[in-house]
Amino acid sequence: MSEVRVRFAPSPTGFFHIGSARTVLFNWLYARNTGGTFILRIEDTDKARNTDEALQVLLDGMRWLGLDWDEGPEVGGDYGPYFQSQRGAIYEEYLGKLKAAGRTYEQDGAVFFKISGEPQVLEDAIRGRVERTEEKDFVIVRSDGSPGFHLVNVVDDIAMGITHVIRGEDHLSNTSKHMELFKAFGAPLPVFAHIPLILKEQGKGKMSKRDEGALVEDYQKSGFLSEAVVNYLCLLGWSPKDDSEKMPLKEIIERFGFDGINKGNARFDSRKMSFLNTSYLRELSLDVFIEMARPILLEAGVIDVSVDEAYLKQVMAISQEKVRMPVDIVGISGTFFSEEFEIEPKAEAKVFKKGEPMVCLQEFKEALETLEDYSVAGVEAGMDALVERSGRKRNDFFGVARLAVSGLDRGPGFYELVSVLGKDRMVSRIEAFISSRSEVS
Ligand code: GLU
Repeated sequence: MSEVRVRFAPSPTGFFHIGSARTVLFNWLYARNTGGTFILRIEDTDKARNTDEALQVLLDGMRWLGLDWDEGPEVGGDYGPYFQSQRGAIYEEYLGKLKAAGRTYEQDGAVFFKISGEPQVLEDAIRGRVERTEEKDFVIVRSDGSPGFHLVNVVDDIAMGITHVIRGEDHLSNTSKHMELFKAFGAPLPVFAHIPLILKEQGKGKMSKRDEGALVEDYQKSGFLSEAVVNYLCLLGWSPKDDSEKMPLKEIIERFGFDGINKGNARFDSRKMSFLNTSYLRELSLDVFIEMARPILLEAGVIDVSVDEAYLKQVMAISQEKVRMPVDIVGISGTFFSEEFEIEPKAEAKVFKKGEPMVCLQEFKEALETLEDYSVAGVEAGMDALVERSGRKRNDFFGVARLAVSGLDRGPGFYELVSVLGKDRMVSRIEAFISSRSEVS
């Protein structure tokens, strides 16, 4: 283990914003890159908002993203307690030091810190040199007796041996106060690294919790893969020196450093996030993909527990590459598992726009009835022969046949679809379609 000790210090509010997730991630990456220690410290001094449920939202989100902490709630460590609400005695002790040094005074029931008023020159690991001079003494203990944010934040960073403070740029304006406090305690300054903000996808300003795509739990609920979300969050403000985008976490850990973090703000890009998600989905091994899809299909009532596993595997194998979001699996594979499906009007209109689809469908059905080899290659050869015999084009058969057996104009590859559905299902679905259409006319 190296000497590096970094921390994520959230005040749980019940939301886990992607901006916070990225702050965790950058701390975590720095710790893993340097072989240091990643600490989770809960800044829960606001009793009304910092409930246990709010804490769980955060812990669940971090676990889902795979960002494990070496010290903190539920894992412990030598520098605890890791909840500020339990560290009152430590704050008292540190406050005593400031009092003894004559750096405090009381006014209207609050305790103020006497600033030095000297210019505070910060060499920020991301922003570079930032100079700022505090002009006013500030409150460190509120009039209700509770220690204030600046005091507890700095005391904990000192007491927990934090070497690098990596946090959002919104705290840059607090840093000169914090530097004053570190110096008053005679403690060495940590390295500060202020991460640029995440801007809304459209329009001006910082992304807020109300913006679409802002909450980690929404990605979790809508079935994003955590690997894709983590990969995307890395790229939100950090980039390796080349143009790599999709990178395994192991490689990101190796390449991560402050020099790759942009000074400018990062703009949220939901399309890039989806794109990464799709490419991670396509790369899952078939078995992993099936286990991801299974609960979704069960929940949607597409399959039940008695599903034929071999058939499920065949259907998933031809559907996986068509899935952009996990939930798409329902639409793409639903018709493989039931003889009762709707014919989508839009798809039907497209098919019936031109040519003689019903005649083609009849010819196609006859070809299927005599076909013996239902492997993908066999189906393709059968189609070649049909095209040859009839003098028609492949597309004359594809659209209407797909419509008749699935109700859609999209889905897995055509030969794969025929091969997996097999002769009996294909023929009976086409017959049902033909008879339903002849009743209408
Ligand atoms: N509790 C503060 C926050 O959530 C921590 C700031 C810091 O990282 O120093 O913004």
